Amino acid sequence: MKDTLIFDVRNIKDWDFNEYEVEIPPSRIQLEIDDVEFIDQVCGSVHLLRHGDNDVYVKADVSTEIEMQCGKCLEMFTNNIAATFEVQFTPDSNPEEEHSEEIDEGERYYDGETFDISEDTRRALVIQIPVWPLCSQMCEGLCQNCGTNLNDEICSCEGTEDAEGNVSDVSSPFADLSQMIETAKLENQNKSSNSKERFSKNGSS
Ligand SMILES: [Zn+2]
Ligand SMILES: [Zn+2]
Repeated sequence: MKDTLIFDVRNIKDWDFNEYEVEIPPSRIQLEIDDVEFIDQVCGSVHLLRHGDNDVYVKADVSTEIEMQCGKCLEMFTNNIAATFEVQFTPDSNPEEEHSEEIDEGERYYDGETFDISEDTRRALVIQIPVWPLCSQMCEGLCQNCGTNLNDEICSCEGTEDAEGNVSDVSSPFADLSQMIETAKLENQNKSSNSKERFSKNGSS
């Protein structure tokens, strides 16, 4: 079991194939993200094949366990994330030059002796973290009225039914007429409250 993602190619013969089991503390490969708790080691297997002029083909399967907050019910939940990636390392004939643009292509340079796949592992796992985390596809979320977690119990709020009723009015062919009635009702209410006001003013003077 290896606890680092730095590999020494000098141990591998040409056209030789090696497999390593790895177990890495997340902090060692800078797996630190807001609102995401890495609660397990990064585990996996890394396959190396040395071929050609000291080229090394790397294929890695990695996974870990994270804890995050559900976007609907706000409960914390755990989630397993896993990734597979491939990289090809080629000895660097020109170490003075910058090759940073090669990183995304899966083609990398190394010094011919050791190489490090920490950053590849970190990136591969980070893109697996859900942007809109849900504890379950079936999560019912919270009641918008009383805040009850609807996964645990059903509340007796009626507000949500009213809201749905209004929405269906908009799609009704009589939406305009319905709106006129609502407006007329409001006007009547205003009139009666105005008259009450006048009455109370008269009463007090
Ligand atoms: Zn949820
Ligand atoms: Zn409720």
